[in-house]
Amino acid sequence: MAKKEVKSPAALIPSIDRLLRSEEFSPIIRIHGRDLTASIVREITTDLRSESLNGSNFSKNISVNSIAKEVSKRLEQITTSSLKPVLNLTGTVLHTNLGRAALPKEAISAIVNVASEPSNIEYNLSTGNRGYRDDHVTDLICRVTGAEAACVVNNNAAAVFLILNTFAFGKEVIVSRGELVEIGGTFRIPDIMLQAGTLLREVGTTNRTNKKDYETAINENTALIMKIHPSNFEIQGFTESVSEKTLADIAHHYNLPLTVDLGSGSLIDFSSKYIPKEKTVRETLSHRVDLVCFSGDKLIGGPQAGFIAGKHSMIKQINSNPMKRAMRMDKIRIAGLIAVLQLYLNPDTLPERLPTLRLLTRKYTEIKSTAHALCPKITQALNNVCTVEVIDCKSQIGSGALPTDLIPSAGLSIRPRFTVKNTKAEKSRALIQVAKNFRRLPVPIIGKLNNGALELDLRCLEQINVLTDQLPILCQIFGSDK
Ligand SMILES: *Cc1c(COP(=O)(O)O)cnc(C)c1O
Repeated sequence: MAKKEVKSPAALIPSIDRLLRSEEFSPIIRIHGRDLTASIVREITTDLRSESLNGSNFSKNISVNSIAKEVSKRLEQITTSSLKPVLNLTGTVLHTNLGRAALPKEAISAIVNVASEPSNIEYNLSTGNRGYRDDHVTDLICRVTGAEAACVVNNNAAAVFLILNTFAFGKEVIVSRGELVEIGGTFRIPDIMLQAGTLLREVGTTNRTNKKDYETAINENTALIMKIHPSNFEIQGFTESVSEKTLADIAHHYNLPLTVDLGSGSLIDFSSKYIPKEKTVRETLSHRVDLVCFSGDKLIGGPQAGFIAGKHSMIKQINSNPMKRAMRMDKIRIAGLIAVLQLYLNPDTLPERLPTLRLLTRKYTEIKSTAHALCPKITQALNNVCTVEVIDCKSQIGSGALPTDLIPSAGLSIRPRFTVKNTKAEKSRALIQVAKNFRRLPVPIIGKLNNGALELDLRCLEQINVLTDQLPILCQIFGSDK
């Protein structure tokens, strides 16, 4: 009797060659090319081989048709960008994880212009010689801040690094203990100091630092006094700190420069426009601070950038630091920056033209009526899975500007329905799923979990149709989820 050969299941998987020659694959290859398609087919057949040992759907998954479907799915993932617009309904207007400032249309068209053609980014059109890229923005920065000179780098973290590295390499920098802040991610002032080759000389205590603390710390190895905006925290109660003016007196008495990291920075005092007051760059410089640095994409509302503004001789020294080149801005963002700084030349029109400011100054009543208009529509889309309610809430500026000053706003509170029998764990799982469903939309909606509900602060929803157009999809997502 002839022995019946037992074929291993993996042998049933069609060969790569056969798959690529099949009719199902010809449209895929036409769009994506043979090499990319073949590499995905290889990935899938490898997966199938390991699945052949234990997968229950194995025999269904190995048809040419189902492999072709899987290939298309993976190719779609690869060829669509994972970076995409979202709706920021977190209530934090300048949300670092959501890209901070949205740019004004003037900046967008300037960016498109410069990105699509060669430009004179480093070319002097009158002499025909090499130009300097910062020259396109320095005059504007000086005009809106009153600074003698300025330069611009990749972000404010780079600006802090450059200041330290240029003026205090191998030397001591005096900083108050109350200002040794972690901004987020890996940006911690003591770590930056170390990497910049400077020695941190901490003075005072967490809550109180006085004039004497600074004076007694100064020695022959001191290079710099630095003041740092606490950004994302506030110390309250029994506190003391030394003003910029007094620090300038101390520093200049010992022939030391005083620098201030303003963090967010603000070019104009907007307190009359109902947003809390953040000290302006001009004010800081008027206190005889030698150099200030600040971000481009926080309260200023421009593209990611770090500005350094102040004394001419010091800016010159920074520009000759070889590390400046490693931290320089690209032409695309310089184009956007010029447009944003030009808007600041006419502060009266800023609240309409600069998105950051437009959002921060939106009126509570307007936001609330948007919430009332949306509430029934969202209720309907959620298929009775959740209750939806109009709420008052508080927005914050974000990105370390005035962390404790909140702005009255309104929004929607979305709460999964429960029965008395649901456990606490079930409730929290259901809420996480609700938030996840909103993030699955083509333009994902990002809210905030608070008090057992998903809260959507509508301050940053300017185009309602971006939300309402997606309601049928939201309805499907919640429907399939039941
Ligand atoms: C945000 C911030 C920084 C870092 O600025 P980026 O532009 O994000 O690099 C540095 N210092 C302070 C005080 C800040 O608030």
